Amino acid sequence: MISISVKNGYQLPVEGEPSTEVDRLPPPIRVGVHPDAIPFVKPRLMVKAGEPVSIGSVLFVDKTRPDIPFLSPGGGTVEEIVYGPRRSLHTMVIRLADHETSVHLGSLTPVSLQQMDRQDLIAYLKTGGVWPFIRQLPYYDIADPDITPASIIVSLSDLEPFQPDPRVYLKSRPDMFYLGLDILKKLGPKLVVTLHTRHNDLLPELSRSITHQVSGPYPASHPGVVMVHTRNRSSDNRAWIISGQDVLMLAGLAQAGSYPIERIIALAGAGAAEPKHILTRNGVPIDHLMDQRTKNSHVRCIAGGLFTGARVSPKDFMGVYPTSLTLIPEGDVREFLGFVRPGFKKPSYSRTFLSVFNKSLLPADTNVHGGKRACIACGACTEVCPVTILPQLTYKNILANDVEMALAHGLLDCVECGLCSYVCPSKIELKDALKAAKQAYYRGD
Ligand code: SF4
Ligand code: SF4
Repeated sequence: MISISVKNGYQLPVEGEPSTEVDRLPPPIRVGVHPDAIPFVKPRLMVKAGEPVSIGSVLFVDKTRPDIPFLSPGGGTVEEIVYGPRRSLHTMVIRLADHETSVHLGSLTPVSLQQMDRQDLIAYLKTGGVWPFIRQLPYYDIADPDITPASIIVSLSDLEPFQPDPRVYLKSRPDMFYLGLDILKKLGPKLVVTLHTRHNDLLPELSRSITHQVSGPYPASHPGVVMVHTRNRSSDNRAWIISGQDVLMLAGLAQAGSYPIERIIALAGAGAAEPKHILTRNGVPIDHLMDQRTKNSHVRCIAGGLFTGARVSPKDFMGVYPTSLTLIPEGDVREFLGFVRPGFKKPSYSRTFLSVFNKSLLPADTNVHGGKRACIACGACTEVCPVTILPQLTYKNILANDVEMALAHGLLDCVECGLCSYVCPSKIELKDALKAAKQAYYRGD
């Protein structure tokens, strides 16, 4: 097993980590998908409002890759199709039937998997709706099935506050995990499976599969960071990546022979009344995950982690990729005499607040404590960047439209972790600028 020690990064000491308790919720009445939240996909609708669908029916395909379908996470009727700005496909809502039906594809036994050739396996994963869970660096777009990547990186630990704990989602399911890895082994010549030292207690159970052990603060175990710290040649830059829980989705398809819908979601953050893991299904409504006390409080809902997640409304649905719902109190409530308070409980990277002396976990809210101003060349963004690019210089290259220099500074190595934006005392949205520049470069704008 190879050890990787990542020095740069930052572990935000915030409260709201989900307990390892797993709650099973009653089934929702509806499920939904948000096609416009899937990066780089131009959806073409394959159903109309009012049509019946089964679990695994094709809802839409990508216009540029019609061979990759996106399947229905529920069986029932397409109740509503909601368009966003410029006719983007925002939401598809499925009202669930009392007895849901599924599209059956046929399951794979270890022997049939062994005998299947790579192209047939790819076709099976695409038709079974799980191909989009495999993505590729450096843009995090859906893996191109027409290439063979130099490696596939599986990341079990995600240190971003707050993501599902692998000890929870893998509990009693190591066989499923091994089945998922067997599938991945047929897709690429090299499989890299990483575990962070924080989750070392999983090692005895998974010792057969872990190839790299990672240490260091967030985002040390991010697959993009692992790639940068292990690459030997330029072809490694286009590695495929997949999270540990999504490996279980591949295995779920192979085992059941139908589109797998079960998901463990981490409900977390200082705004969650009871941070915990929830066993639920793909496309569950956000407000179905919130208890009554949380619904009545003034919280912001984030699908995903604190640094990389997206703000959502309680009326939205959990998307294809996020596996956590982070709730944080809105910071728009004025503190009485806030300007003279020392900030003993305000999480901050800088030493501006007295919280630097507070070793307990602190409640994060949405307050950014100040407005945007010019860069003061403090170097904090460079200090935390896990792939040691120079975020402030790359940002200036982007502003000057100097793509060549931005690339030379390592733009494509950016793993979009969001730490540079968080630590910047000038409130410059570095991560958003770098991510937008990467996406423009991908599209050839
Ligand atoms: S430049 Fe990219 S990788 Fe570096 S800290 Fe910022 S978001 Fe993270
Ligand atoms: S953290 Fe912000 S202010 Fe400091 S060097 Fe980076 S961009 Fe400039």
